[in-house]
Amino acid sequence: MSELEALLADMVRIDSSNPGLSGGPGEAAFAAHLAGLMGRLGLDVDLWDVLPGRPNVVGRLPGSGGGRSLMLIGHLDVVGPWGPDAFTPVVREGRMYGRGAADMKCGFAAALLAVEALLAGGRRLPGDVLVAGVIDEEWESAGAAALPARWRPDAAVLVECTGLEVVAEHGGFAWYEVESHGVEAAGVDPDHGVDGIALLAPVLAGITALDAELARRLRARYGRGSVHASTIRGGDQLPAYPARCTLGVERCFISGENVAQGQAEMESLLAAAREADSRFRGELRTVVAREPLEQSEGEPVIAAVAAATAAVLGRPPVVRGDIGWADSGLLVEAGIPVATCGPIGHGEHTADEWVDLASVAATARVLERAARAFCA
Ligand SMILES: [Zn+2]
Repeated sequence: MSELEALLADMVRIDSSNPGLSGGPGEAAFAAHLAGLMGRLGLDVDLWDVLPGRPNVVGRLPGSGGGRSLMLIGHLDVVGPWGPDAFTPVVREGRMYGRGAADMKCGFAAALLAVEALLAGGRRLPGDVLVAGVIDEEWESAGAAALPARWRPDAAVLVECTGLEVVAEHGGFAWYEVESHGVEAAGVDPDHGVDGIALLAPVLAGITALDAELARRLRARYGRGSVHASTIRGGDQLPAYPARCTLGVERCFISGENVAQGQAEMESLLAAAREADSRFRGELRTVVAREPLEQSEGEPVIAAVAAATAAVLGRPPVVRGDIGWADSGLLVEAGIPVATCGPIGHGEHTADEWVDLASVAATARVLERAARAFCA
């Protein structure tokens, strides 16, 4: 087994499932494992709890002074396992299979190999190189939200799988819950019962109509804005009017759209339901809302990483957008520019998750090269 394979396999074996999603054990064991690896490389390690028992970790390779600092960053958590073998890595035909292999323990393996290569080069770079692991990306991104108050690098590379392309902009999203209140009564008592489920119908019809309208509007290069119902819960038994119904809704934003616009759209859907039937009593709750991210391709960290991919792969760089939101959104909002670039991976959040091992090695070379250019 190669050094890279062994390094990544040890990471995949540690269950760092997000407790918010699946009641998993959380990130502490994996953060401690990374802290140990970074300590052995000689980095200064900062490990601190963001939520009780859920630490972020940052390792710092100090520069000789005067250069820009670059943070190689990833999220420590994974989504819950698909079965008992999810955390047993399997290597087949140059790929490693396992929960977290692609999303995104491969990014940490690449970052550590890059630091190792920088150290092997001997001479220190002028700027600091940092490696950061943050908690909770798969739920509310508490780790990325807490990071800038403690660490403010000049720029960051988020080492998520992008097929060694550079993602400079991405979509945003919001999750809403609409709670419709009815009046519980026996089904044979229509004078007292109020049907909290059926009164939501205009909201559902409005979601369908809004999505059709969004489909007609301008697209971003990476996709279109959209809205859909995600979950619905309501009612206790067949022979009764339901006291409540809760509808979950997801809105995906592209550049040019924003969180305030999504909020206004949802409020107008509730207003339409009230107009359709004055008995409708609904409340809107925003669970999470994240703005879409725009950055210029000329941003120095994006240019540095793009040039590094071109040099390592021997082909022109690809700089693009992605519909999926990532922690880069929070970092850029905090004033830290981010290039997202990482290995070739597939099947994130499914039982068929794998990462191409050669592309992890290539990512390490890209990160090393980008750091040499950026931290000069
Ligand atoms: Zn991820």
